[in-house]
Amino acid sequence: MKRRSFMKYLMSLPVLGGALKPSGASASKARPATGPKQHIVVIGAGAFGGWTALNLLRQGARVTLVDAIEAGNALSSSGGETRVIRHAYEQRIYVDMVVRALELWKESDKRWGTHLFHQKGVLFMGQERQFIDAATVHMEAAGVEIEIIQGSEISRRYPQMNPENLRWAVYEPDAGYLMARLATMAVRDAFIAEGGNFQLVTAKPGPVNNGEMGALQLHTGGSLTADQYVFACGPWLKELFPEVLGDLIKVTRQELYFFRPPASQREAFNQDLPVWAEVGSPFYYGIPGYNGEFKIGDDTRGPEVDPTTQSRAPTASGIAAVRAFMEYRFPPMKGAEMVDSRVCQYSESKDYNFIVDRHPAAENAWLVGGGSGHGFKHGPALGELIAGQVLGNRKPEATFMLSRFASLDTTHS
Ligand SMILES: Cc1cc2nc3c(=O)[nH]c(=O)nc-3n(C[C@H](O)[C@H](O)[C@H](O)COP(=O)(O)OP(=O)(O)OC[C@H]3O[C@@H](n4cnc5c(N)ncnc54)[C@H](O)[C@@H]3O)c2cc1C
Repeated sequence: MKRRSFMKYLMSLPVLGGALKPSGASASKARPATGPKQHIVVIGAGAFGGWTALNLLRQGARVTLVDAIEAGNALSSSGGETRVIRHAYEQRIYVDMVVRALELWKESDKRWGTHLFHQKGVLFMGQERQFIDAATVHMEAAGVEIEIIQGSEISRRYPQMNPENLRWAVYEPDAGYLMARLATMAVRDAFIAEGGNFQLVTAKPGPVNNGEMGALQLHTGGSLTADQYVFACGPWLKELFPEVLGDLIKVTRQELYFFRPPASQREAFNQDLPVWAEVGSPFYYGIPGYNGEFKIGDDTRGPEVDPTTQSRAPTASGIAAVRAFMEYRFPPMKGAEMVDSRVCQYSESKDYNFIVDRHPAAENAWLVGGGSGHGFKHGPALGELIAGQVLGNRKPEATFMLSRFASLDTTHS
């Protein structure tokens, strides 16, 4: 949606009365501390919804969390085994969020007796300096430990790699990878253990009248009423709210591949190589070692798809492209057997930033999504932020508000 049409849509909404209303604490439905607990329904138990529900509960609300399939199900964006957690970002807000999220991931591992965070180190590398220069400034300012590795030193440190065309690398010793599906299920389990109500049900938004959303319609034929509703439906969010998000989020097809390193190289790849990413176009990344496999993905956005019906089989062209890159950058992987694959989807917002805001026409409904291929790691910090906003204890974050799209004058490419 171009700036003018998005603004026109916002202005046409009765709740706004022709002016963009800030979704700040003053507009919140937060109850006084002494009153009855506010009841909030969170729709979607993925990384965003699960952590939001858990934080709402911990911040004093009565919470129902619903999911159409299951927490971390295979179709969802939080499914699959692993996700990268790194601090290297060009925007300071995400660096700070990762610092907080990592603290909370570690704390959760201790509290739950789990091993969701694996501190394997992360190596970002590339040719152009633009990304790393910006990220380095932010990481240093945020107190993140990093090591800059110059081109010639890369192959000395990582003999598994062909350093051709790599001019720089930055290593984060404190970063690594997270167990995705297991973490999403662990959050659900903690939510239930701490008193949350979890239900497996498909929910449709209720009717919007006079600036408020009414009861959710459930696939069972029943309905569910609450004080506030938080829709964290991942790649399904835009089909629930096409009038608000239709042109602001793209759901794109993403393929992942898993190779088994040759026997003579298993230690070199499974143990000695950190999580890595090569910044550029295409943008490849990988997680070596989990389950004895070398996971590799291409971050380039694929074609738009329907998350319910898209094929989950990898394409021959995708396999050929990733193999060609892998054998060039990691020569000992030549001829390695592909042992598995996975097809998922990004919910790519128009500017790559998350969406956390009220529905423009319903003060008691929140839209949460736009993970844009980098949201998983932020779950604990984002859940804290969203819960604070929904309960009226925290100011809205401008980077995540819908009104930011009004100032974007680009088409979604
Ligand atoms: C291939 C791939 C690689 C990625 N790599 C990384 C990475 O390395 N690091 C990183 O930080 N992030 C990564 N991400 C991004 C990250 O995984 C996502 O941003 C994050 O998981 C999004 O979580 P979510 O809760 O928004 O969506 P989801 O996990 O999709 O959760 C949405 C949930 O809502 C439920 N739902 C939908 N509609 C309804 C309804 N009507 N009623 C009830 N329930 C409903 C669904 O069943 C689902 O469980 C990657 C994503 C992909 C696809």
